[in-house]
Amino acid sequence: MISYGRQTLDNDDIDAVVAVLQSDCITQGSLVTEFENLVSDYCNVSSAVAVTNGTMGLVLCCRAMGLTTGGLLWTSPNSYVASANCAHFCGAEVDFVDIDYTTGNMDVCLLEEKLIRAERAGRLPDIVIPVHFGGHSCPMESIARLARRFGFRVIEDACHALGGSYSGEKVGSCRWSDASVFSFHPVKSITTGEGGMVVSNNGSLISKIRVLGSGGVCRHARLLPWYCEMEEPGINGRLSEVHAALGISQINKLDNFIEARREIASHYLNELASTPLMLPPVVENSRSAWHLFVVHVDDNRNGLCESLRRAGIGVNVHYVPIHTHPWFLARGFSRGDFPNAERHFDTAITLPIYPTIGATQLDYIISTVSSMTRQAA
Ligand SMILES: *Cc1c(COP(=O)(O)O)cnc(C)c1O
Repeated sequence: MISYGRQTLDNDDIDAVVAVLQSDCITQGSLVTEFENLVSDYCNVSSAVAVTNGTMGLVLCCRAMGLTTGGLLWTSPNSYVASANCAHFCGAEVDFVDIDYTTGNMDVCLLEEKLIRAERAGRLPDIVIPVHFGGHSCPMESIARLARRFGFRVIEDACHALGGSYSGEKVGSCRWSDASVFSFHPVKSITTGEGGMVVSNNGSLISKIRVLGSGGVCRHARLLPWYCEMEEPGINGRLSEVHAALGISQINKLDNFIEARREIASHYLNELASTPLMLPPVVENSRSAWHLFVVHVDDNRNGLCESLRRAGIGVNVHYVPIHTHPWFLARGFSRGDFPNAERHFDTAITLPIYPTIGATQLDYIISTVSSMTRQAA
């Protein structure tokens, strides 16, 4: 089965990991710092902190911004559950802003309307988390304008979008946000097995995340080398040297990975243009990292998925709208609350996209998808 996404690892990656395993330091050392510096240089942002995974990055970022009981976070329903769950780990409430069906990203007009209503009701969000669905950046300039007007913080869930850009800046530059969070899960742009990073131009926010992600313990080495104190309970969210070694080796290849993804995407866009499928938009102002290649069919999505999987093409569906998961339904959300996200889910198929898909596999996917959708039409 050709999977919808997978890691790209070579001998350099393996050698980098073996070398760190043969060294004295495998937990916290210079490689974690080097990896943080490479990611922040790549994104042109001032500060970065490596964490165990993207979910941990979102949770720690919310905590460091002071999100707590009684707080409110808004995000996109068209995402992995972590974009919303981070609020619950802080004891805060979650609500959603529906998406633009064509991009899969939070709809900024709907965000503005909801903010106006929320202001009247006296319940504005503390934090809004836009998700760069599939690798396409959200319209961050408009979101930043709303953040200034309504006074909320912005965390970009950039887990799909490392290597992409928006309005001339790399995703993660944080020019229009308070922080951005990346994941290094194997299906993402680069991998460390499990891993993540928070980047920001607010150095004290990053320091706070570092402390909260290290037990909440602050070392005061300038006073006495063994002295430390805890002001607020934290958790262990640190990335290891082993993971960082892999990350360093991977980020050197990031631009090649993105270029390969872009070529696959443009091949799909050309070759599937004459099918009845709705193809992903090429968003003005933005260069996608092409984490996902999502197409839409109006009828019998499940039938088409099944046929494709029987043909050995491991298509997937992104995403079950977060508010329709049982936990959210049990807490007052209903189907129908965010119709664009629901329609997006009902009609979406994620085709395989990753740097090492060969030309033969790609041609096979294209010809199979073309003949199956033309038959159905
Ligand atoms: C992958 C992902 C996450 C979480 O990352 P993990 O590293 O798997 O914890 C969060 N949000 C989105 C949109 C993701 O795709």
